[in-house]
Amino acid sequence: MELLQKKIIKEGIALSDTVLKVDNFLNHQIDPQLMNEIGKEFAARFKGEGITKIVTLESSGIAPAVMTGLVLDVPVIFARKKKSLTLTEGLITSQVYSYTKQETNDISIASKFLNDQDHVLIIDDFLANGQAALALVDIVEKTNASIAGIGIVIEKAFQDGGKFLSEKGCRVESLARIQSLANQTIEFVNWETS
Ligand code: 5GP
Repeated sequence: MELLQKKIIKEGIALSDTVLKVDNFLNHQIDPQLMNEIGKEFAARFKGEGITKIVTLESSGIAPAVMTGLVLDVPVIFARKKKSLTLTEGLITSQVYSYTKQETNDISIASKFLNDQDHVLIIDDFLANGQAALALVDIVEKTNASIAGIGIVIEKAFQDGGKFLSEKGCRVESLARIQSLANQTIEFVNWETS
C-alpha cells in the first residue's frame, strides 16, 4: 500500500535491526485519515469473504480494525491483555509469548461475542514472530468460529511470523512488508506504486 509505505519512510524510525518505531501514526499518536485508507484496503482485500466479525488485540490493533469494521459493517472485538473488573465470566484465553519482553502473557475475549456461525477477519498492527496472531487464531478456533484470514498493517518479512501463519494454512494480507531495517534504513519487499 503506497500511502502506508510513504508514511513509514517519512515518519518511521528503525530503532535497531529488528524494531521499527511508528508511534507518530500507529502505536501512540494515530493518523485517522491513514487508518481510514487502511480500513478501506483491508475491506477491499477481504470483500466477498462473508466476514461477520473482526478480532484484534488491544491497543494498537484497534484503530485499523475499527476502520475496517466500519467499511465491512461488522463488529470489532479486541482481545484484552489485562484482566478487567467487568470481564469475568465466559472468558476464552490464549497465551502470547513476547520475544522482545521475554515473557508470556494471557490475552482473552468473552466467549459471548463469537460462535460457530462467525467468519472472522483477524487484524493486528505488526507481524514479527507471529505469536500475537497465532494466539488470536487460537482464541477464534476455541469459539468454533472460522477464520477468513489475517490482515497485518506492517509485516517484518525478515522474521518468521508470516511463515508460521502460512504453515497453519492462514491467508495473510500485509499492507507493508519490510525486507530489512539494517543500518537504520527501512527497505520494503516491494516498493508499490499505483
Ligand atoms: P509477534 O507476536 O508477531 O512477534 O509480534 C507482534 C506484536 O509485537 C505486535 O502486536 C506489536 O505490538 C509488537 N511488535 C513486534 N515488532 C514490532 C516492531 O518492530 N515495532 C513495533 N512498534 N511493535 C512491534
